[in-house]
Amino acid sequence: MDKNKKESLFVNDGIEKPEMINNKAIDSYKKLNRNKELPEDEFIKGILSGNRTILGKAITLVESTLPKHHDLAQRIINSCLKHSGNSIRIGITGVPGVGKSTFIEALGKYLIKQGKKIAVLAIDPSSTISKGSILGDKTRMEELSAMQMAFIRPSPSAGSLGGVAMKTRETIVLCEAAGYDIIFIETVGVGQSEIAVHSMVDFFLLLMLGGAGDELQGIKRGIMEMADGIIINKADADNIKQATRAQAQLSNAIHYFPPSPSDWITKVDTCSAIEEKGLDNVWETIENYVSHTKNNNYFNIRRKEQSKYWMYETINSELKSLFYDNKFIKSKLKIEEERVLKEEKTPFLAAYDMINMFFNEINKKK
Ligand code: GDP
Repeated sequence: MDKNKKESLFVNDGIEKPEMINNKAIDSYKKLNRNKELPEDEFIKGILSGNRTILGKAITLVESTLPKHHDLAQRIINSCLKHSGNSIRIGITGVPGVGKSTFIEALGKYLIKQGKKIAVLAIDPSSTISKGSILGDKTRMEELSAMQMAFIRPSPSAGSLGGVAMKTRETIVLCEAAGYDIIFIETVGVGQSEIAVHSMVDFFLLLMLGGAGDELQGIKRGIMEMADGIIINKADADNIKQATRAQAQLSNAIHYFPPSPSDWITKVDTCSAIEEKGLDNVWETIENYVSHTKNNNYFNIRRKEQSKYWMYETINSELKSLFYDNKFIKSKLKIEEERVLKEEKTPFLAAYDMINMFFNEINKKK
């Protein structure tokens, strides 16, 4: 066969395959970016003008564990504070598979059509415990993430749940200063992370499925009581009847829950996130809640309570890490623990002794 004959039936030699990744280019790109640390006022200007790249960089600073980043991040957040507070903060929870990302994508698109800018943040407790993550691994909200009016940020991954939550709380301020009208904070139904999300949002929404039974959905009663709204998702095809039944049963059950200080009765709606049906009802519920709680001032009171909560949370967590990260204390902890285990000392005395040692150590350094 004549190999030089150019016909589709012949396979001609191709060119040599180039390297998949040009490492030199990547290195120089990294260097360029590393050297390009923005000054504080550039960060603030960028955020206030709604620049998503700068907003993303500022959030990376907030999430950084380096002390120099910490100080800069705190100054930026503080400068953004007077430009923040104008969004509706919505917490979303539910077991894996209930449809949280599908729902946020659908509602996000619905709100963008109304001219709203939306941000999606996440608190993923699994990423702090194991390296894997429940919320982050999937390809999520592809359509929404391609939209100019949306900003999507995965969960911070380092540190304790409290630390991750604190960073998300700080990120809310930056997103609000960047002009986002609606901020979704997503988490997964495993308990502690719901409490963290509840303490930073105006409206807490629980997604459930019809006909699955509460036990199966792993939803604790406490979480249902925290919800300002419940959605029975996947109300489509053969599921519609079950969803409507679950809606009626839950609406009934809610009357036996303790009254909420907001004087609002939790609303149960059905929706199909995948078919984008029922979103108008859900949004109406949220808008009704906002006007109800703004009228009776609960909206304001809740935000102030939350600010107070985060101040004390931050003090607690900072003091704790000051203590446990102290070199001298680290060297003494095991010894004191041994003494307690051998019953040479009570746990209380050991604790008081350690605290005294900590203060002596700090005073010595002055
Ligand atoms: P998440 O783990 O709670 O974020 O759930 P996902 O949004 O990833 O959805 C889990 C699965 O349920 C996916 O296969 C979705 O396509 C599907 N799903 C989500 N919403 C609906 C819905 O309204 N109806 C139906 N039939 N399926 C849905």
